[in-house]
Amino acid sequence: MKMNTLAVHAGQTHTTDSIAPDIVLSTTFRYDSISNTDGHRYTRASNPNRHALETALAKLEGGERAFAFASGMAAITALFQTLGAESHIIFPDDVYHGARDLIHDVFATWGLSWTSVDMTNPSDVAAAILPNTKLIWVETPSNPSLKIADIQAIASIARENNALCAVDNTWTTPIVQRPFNLGADVVMYSTTKYFGGHSDVLSGALIVREGLGDSIGVQLATIQKLTGSVPSPFDCWLLLRSMPTLPLRVRQQCHNAATMAAFLADHPRVAKVNYPGLASHPQHEIAVRQMHDGFGGMLSFDIDGDFEDAASIANRVQLIGQATSLGGVETLIEHRAGVEGPRSPTPPTLLRLSVGIEDVEDLIADLQQALANK
Ligand SMILES: *Cc1c(COP(=O)(O)O)cnc(C)c1O
Repeated sequence: MKMNTLAVHAGQTHTTDSIAPDIVLSTTFRYDSISNTDGHRYTRASNPNRHALETALAKLEGGERAFAFASGMAAITALFQTLGAESHIIFPDDVYHGARDLIHDVFATWGLSWTSVDMTNPSDVAAAILPNTKLIWVETPSNPSLKIADIQAIASIARENNALCAVDNTWTTPIVQRPFNLGADVVMYSTTKYFGGHSDVLSGALIVREGLGDSIGVQLATIQKLTGSVPSPFDCWLLLRSMPTLPLRVRQQCHNAATMAAFLADHPRVAKVNYPGLASHPQHEIAVRQMHDGFGGMLSFDIDGDFEDAASIANRVQLIGQATSLGGVETLIEHRAGVEGPRSPTPPTLLRLSVGIEDVEDLIADLQQALANK
């Protein structure tokens, strides 16, 4: 089955004749014999809604097994917990700030060490390899400057060095980017974003490639069950509720983002647009090779001006919302340096857009008025 069909049907199992799936809130399940281990027993270990969601996630991604978590951060935590003591991780210099803080503030005391590198240069990744490097963490496009890392090149460096290559694919989803086809071992999602798609459910996921279900897959199943950072049946139901429209939403978001990127690139108050679909993007050729059906719904741009000029544009939008997060049906804008605080490496003139599914003419009209007034 192809992607649109999988999005509608994968994982959709029913306990009644209903067309829409049922929510099973029961925390415990009847069993006929202590020796019969088939079926669900206790909802932290497994339940029908989570099973349905995990089945759909594995199918859509083309992986062997998927694991749903209570948040994207819980998913990242579970993967780090599979690494042995004294392991070394390589991650991008502009990695999602939560992942950076997790490594620094929580896992440092576990003896995890790390090197952050500019992942637009695979040779920098290779140079950072140590004898105890167990994981190379890739995030592409990066946040908020939309740098593109070559997944295939980095995955092969990982393979040559017996390290795992994990890709945080939150910004693209399998509609746009398929890391397993490029050699990655693990795909991670904050499903809070595009999978949920309506800014109303916090959740995360890990998917392991074919061949890893019995090794790291078993480790992750144990961690998921014993640490208990699992999504509720209702969260799983909401995510599966959003799955059928994922391809439609993401393609519309890609179309709108590309149109807005072109508009902004021509605007006299805009100094630079960061969008991998633009021919002017420094890694455009890699993006063409590893992204499909569009270049994602995220973009950022630099204002010709200062911190105040950029912040005041974000204050002036009317249809577009000024808020953090991304991947929802509604378009959001954010002044990242203002949010990240004084240690932020983000340019003070940068604004980030999470582009929604509205009519792009209305979005452009809103940006136009926000950019026109000084
Ligand atoms: C939001 C996000 C996360 C963290 O996910 P939560 O669901 O907020 O815990 C991780 N990586 C990326 C790229 C994100 O955008």
